[in-house]
Amino acid sequence: MGLVDRAGARLTVRPEEADVLVVNTCSFIDTAKQESVDTILEMVRLKTEGRAKKVVVAGCLVERYRDEIRKNIPEVDAVVGTGELESILEAAGIAPVAQAAPSPFTILTGHAAVREGREAGAGTHKVGHEHAAWNELKSFRPEGDHRERQGRFSREDWRGAGHLLPTYLYDESTPRLLSTGRTSAYIKIAEGCDHPCTFCIIPNLRGKFRSRRFESVVAEAQRLVASGVQEITLIGQDTTCYGEDLGLKDGLATLLDALARIEGLRWLRFLYAYPNRITGRLLETIAKHENICKYLDVPLQHASPDVLKRMKRGAGADIFLKTLEKVRAAVPGIALRTSFIVGFPGESLRDVEILEEFISEARFDWLGVFNYSDEEGSKAFGLDAKVPKRTIEARKRKLMKLQQGISKRAKQAWVGREVVLLAEGESEETELLWEGRTQFHAPEIDGKVYINDLGALECLEAGRFYRAEITEAHDYDVVARVVGGPL
Ligand code: SF4
Repeated sequence: MGLVDRAGARLTVRPEEADVLVVNTCSFIDTAKQESVDTILEMVRLKTEGRAKKVVVAGCLVERYRDEIRKNIPEVDAVVGTGELESILEAAGIAPVAQAAPSPFTILTGHAAVREGREAGAGTHKVGHEHAAWNELKSFRPEGDHRERQGRFSREDWRGAGHLLPTYLYDESTPRLLSTGRTSAYIKIAEGCDHPCTFCIIPNLRGKFRSRRFESVVAEAQRLVASGVQEITLIGQDTTCYGEDLGLKDGLATLLDALARIEGLRWLRFLYAYPNRITGRLLETIAKHENICKYLDVPLQHASPDVLKRMKRGAGADIFLKTLEKVRAAVPGIALRTSFIVGFPGESLRDVEILEEFISEARFDWLGVFNYSDEEGSKAFGLDAKVPKRTIEARKRKLMKLQQGISKRAKQAWVGREVVLLAEGESEETELLWEGRTQFHAPEIDGKVYINDLGALECLEAGRFYRAEITEAHDYDVVARVVGGPL
């Protein structure tokens, strides 16, 4: 969006007004693919019947089905994979702006370019920019190289997919356009994943793990905060691996430590911790800084050691409980989020019981349960003993019911607490309520705080912070009244 904006295009969220329609797609599970395809078809209809002249398909569906999209939906004018961001201009038919300075974009397409660069020496592939992506790509983790030799990233069985893995990373000078309002922003600190989880095709779509340069992330955060952003959420497929490929030890903790010192940054959090990479140093860093949210999202996927072994993730309920104990002891009051996959091939009733017992004992603040999706190209695709869809659905319902009770009791304990609240806007359900979040809610995913009493204020301003008292609790959401602010 930043690139087309800088080239002079005007962006609109109303597709019927657009000349060029861009569909950014997802393809890691069945439902995501379906949603992507439905949206493409809807946009194609708008092109056929309306004013749009071009449909561009971007993102992970392109990585998975590049040729198939072109063959089966000929109305699509161009496809842009996750490693080809710069080609969005050409795809959309927008002339790049003439620049006095060289392009801040540095795109390396595929392994061939990386190998060539390695042979020629670092710096060869700097494409007109001091902080070329090549600098960030010269050192994959040994785990990544090892897994590549084992075929982890192979797309050979995928009909219609290109065979080159993306190697792209943006940097601090890449133009961005925030779609998350003026107060909150995401920063991607790393891309790709080297883990061998057998249900997951994300590494095949996104490539090997690679971290953005430390200084690049800090510079971007500084710029965002200077422009008014007060909440930063760090993301990546596995943020807890951050910096390993750059030779950093405890890279995420070091990064958080540097970012937390940026004046004006009120909330800083990271998502998607890998369970065995939550180090003492990381927890100390979360505890030490007031502006690092007391919040940890650690997707565990299951709790039965047998299932986790077949998922190639290892560990089990006992180890996870010890980890959670360590986390809670180091950061008192921390909100914990996790997600599980239910119905993995061979999952027995006993496995589900183990998961239930674990959920009861672990008492997560936020929890998601996802149905297993059988993805071609994943190792689990070849496993026998697939669990029928109806059984998966019933197991998921049971687990969510269990969590509902746990969440309800936990939210009751919030009543009477005073919290700092980020006002997000009028409620989608009724204009009589406002919605907000605390540091214990990540953007978009967790429950909501409904504000039904503005206290002494006449109105709230979206994107501002207030003091509030929790007055009521429901299963997942709470109700609050404003007692002070804006802060
Ligand atoms: S760690 Fe996450 S992204 Fe990486 S393979 Fe496992 S599930 Fe997929």
